Amino acid sequence: MAAPFSTTQSNHARGTEYLQLHDPDLTESQRTVREAISKVCSRFDDAYWLAADRDHRFPVEFHQAVAKDGWLGICMPSEYGGSDLGIAEAAVMVQTIAESGAAYAGASAVHMNIFGLEPVRKFGTEEQKSRMLVPLIAGEERACFGVTEPNTGLDTLRLQSRAVRKDKHYELSGQKIWISTAQVAEKILVLARTTPLEQVKKPSQGLSLFYTDLDRKQVEVTEIPKMGRAAVDSNTLFFDGWKVPQEDLIGEEGNGFKMIMHGMNAERILIAAEALGIGFAALRRAALYAGERKVFGRPIGQNQAIQHPLADSWMQLEAARLMIYQAARMYDQGYETGEYANAAKYLAAEAAFGACERAVMTHGGMGYAKEYHVERYLREIMIPRIAPVSREMIKNYIGERVLGLPRSY
Ligand SMILES: Cc1cc2nc3c(=O)[nH]c(=O)nc-3n(C[C@H](O)[C@H](O)[C@H](O)COP(=O)(O)OP(=O)(O)OC[C@H]3O[C@@H](n4cnc5c(N)ncnc54)[C@H](O)[C@@H]3O)c2cc1C
Repeated sequence: MAAPFSTTQSNHARGTEYLQLHDPDLTESQRTVREAISKVCSRFDDAYWLAADRDHRFPVEFHQAVAKDGWLGICMPSEYGGSDLGIAEAAVMVQTIAESGAAYAGASAVHMNIFGLEPVRKFGTEEQKSRMLVPLIAGEERACFGVTEPNTGLDTLRLQSRAVRKDKHYELSGQKIWISTAQVAEKILVLARTTPLEQVKKPSQGLSLFYTDLDRKQVEVTEIPKMGRAAVDSNTLFFDGWKVPQEDLIGEEGNGFKMIMHGMNAERILIAAEALGIGFAALRRAALYAGERKVFGRPIGQNQAIQHPLADSWMQLEAARLMIYQAARMYDQGYETGEYANAAKYLAAEAAFGACERAVMTHGGMGYAKEYHVERYLREIMIPRIAPVSREMIKNYIGERVLGLPRSY
């Protein structure tokens, strides 16, 4: 068996250096994706991501490189420029990006564009699909996703943004929070209530989905200073009387929540794969450092107190990986995968968080220095523990839907 990675390389790893994956696990098309994406990533080294984080700068070149090779359309139909592959391939793609050292800065720069427009693909008209999907896949437009609101949080069904139908347009009023990439995106997929809560039979009714221009003359976009992933912005949006053309309504009015839900399991699988990638990147760095750094006359990795937590992290990451790809396979085969997608997201985020924390500790003082990158991973790996759904809500879901226990909230 080949060495999992070169032990002579410096700790500043490059995109082509990964911990070895068990190759037979991958299908032919997954292997092709992994190799091709590794090649793209190898052009964006650690210094690139360190600078993007330091300067709070969107990785435009990386986004363009991924778009240029056609990867943004990995899951989209070929008639709009896509590749017609599944979530199992998209998961390999985002895992590989994160694992290259790009971490969430790289994954989030392309994430929304890969799967965010699933509601358009599934429920849009032919005219909308050509108008909306083609420029997104070509990398000519970028999209953000506007669901979360400051007053309602995870209680999405009670969101307060309103959309009122006028003659040939809707007028949207309300606010959104944590909207990633709104500083650079030209487009937004946004959810708002068209029928007041009091007038619907179920709270899931009366919400509508729009894919439209993020017109800064009508929408105030303010960046939120945050803990990590500084290269990719997150924002509050405020709008009052934002005119959205009627032709930008996706599917039927009032059915927006159902449409958003459609893509959610796939999104959880992708977020999980991104977390996994960061976990493996952290572990790779930790193992390299533990093998090279000598204190008390021997490599620190010879001490079991250093070695065993890293071995434990590998096992946890591998367990999460099996769950992720099981969920992806099921999703692609058309099964309901709520419990597996949620569990995969939970397990991958926790395993990766453990690996990142241990990577920092393995580096001792240098774990706290930016030049060893693991502190950046640790800051970024908090994201999948919080978003798009929290750990508590996943346990609520499993408790209620899998174990049949009473709803706790
Ligand atoms: C970096 C980042 C990027 C993001 N990007 C986007 C984006 O692009 N678009 C978008 O729409 N959103 C985005 N989000 C928002 C994200 O999806 C939400 O932060 C997340 O869903 C949690 O919602 P909240 O912050 O309002 O938490 P809250 O709903 O206020 O919850 C706070 C805490 O209370 C717990 N809690 C609440 N209710 C219960 C309950 N019934 N039982 C147990 N625990 C409970 C939660 O689990 C959580 O720990 C992003 C968030 C972050 C941090």
